[in-house]
Amino acid sequence: MQITAAIVPEESGSFVIDKLELADPRPDEILVRVMASGMCHTDLHGRDGYFQTPFPAVFGHEGGGVVESVGSGVVAFKPGDHVIMAFPFCGKCPNCEAHMPSHCMDSMKLKGSGTRADGSTLMEKNGAPVYSAFFQQSSFATHAIANQRFAVKVRNDAPLEHLGAMACGVQTGAGAVFNAMKPSEGDSLAVFGVGGVGLSALMAARLAGCDPIIAVDLQDSRLALARELGATHTINHSGGDDVVAAIRQITGHGVKFSIDTSAKPAILREAVEILMPLGTCILLGSARKGTEFSLEMPFLQDGRTVRGVIQGWSEPQVFLPYLVDLMMEGKFPVERLMTFYPLGDINRAAEDATTGRTIKPVLRMPQ
Ligand code: ZN
Repeated sequence: MQITAAIVPEESGSFVIDKLELADPRPDEILVRVMASGMCHTDLHGRDGYFQTPFPAVFGHEGGGVVESVGSGVVAFKPGDHVIMAFPFCGKCPNCEAHMPSHCMDSMKLKGSGTRADGSTLMEKNGAPVYSAFFQQSSFATHAIANQRFAVKVRNDAPLEHLGAMACGVQTGAGAVFNAMKPSEGDSLAVFGVGGVGLSALMAARLAGCDPIIAVDLQDSRLALARELGATHTINHSGGDDVVAAIRQITGHGVKFSIDTSAKPAILREAVEILMPLGTCILLGSARKGTEFSLEMPFLQDGRTVRGVIQGWSEPQVFLPYLVDLMMEGKFPVERLMTFYPLGDINRAAEDATTGRTIKPVLRMPQ
């Protein structure tokens, strides 16, 4: 069928809106009419070649929409179902079998190759392939094909355009708290970088009863929103002040947990240095291959842990409906992070995400 998509012709190129041909769903796939797709920095990293995705390519990996048709072997979905397209995983490797699909051994290939696992593409232009399985969905398009394994059915009364972003950025932040940190009431947390991921973590930390919750960022507007969403303290890190000393002044011994979303080596080091003995720093930011950071060895002799967490250690079929319920109860106002753009304004959305003017761009598809 013919669809409209935002295509990137070459590495670091601009998005171009174009008509493409989308394949029919295979027996284990569903065709989704995308209502809206979140944009996150991972899409822009894909555009800029971080994942070696071939070009031309269609990115987008936070799609929410309505099932239009299903493959012959699909029983769990039917036309009209509301779905979020979550991250891909193989389902067979030791981590998938241990219910940790976010750390699937094949995940980088499934996310970044731009093809299905068997190497096939789903979209084409004038008979030439378009790399169109980014995160096995390529949701910057009016329609996408998702494997039934990665699609999550959600309640039909929730506003679909708020849900796509839960597939990656929101669940990455919230899951880091609920699934990886598992804080007790009164545990202290510092979040470095309060964009979409950091604010999602912060909202989850507030629900979990963390106190204090310290937000660190370069922009006062983000810090103001962080305070509205649950931060007890905010620190603007742009002035060259000693952020480690400032957090110690609030907490005494440092924080039990810290989260880095910046992926900047100097910030990650601060996020480790500010931990109390036995504290844990969680790295959520995504850095280009080859990026290194340094630590003083005594930081670890104090029993501190530094660990990376992808996709909030989520099992999407369970965790995403849980987040949707929290949102519908008014406890998890993800819409406060979002700014909506028509698909045709995708380059402006990308620019606003890069400058930080917009926290979470969400693209509405032409219907
Ligand atoms: Zn796997």
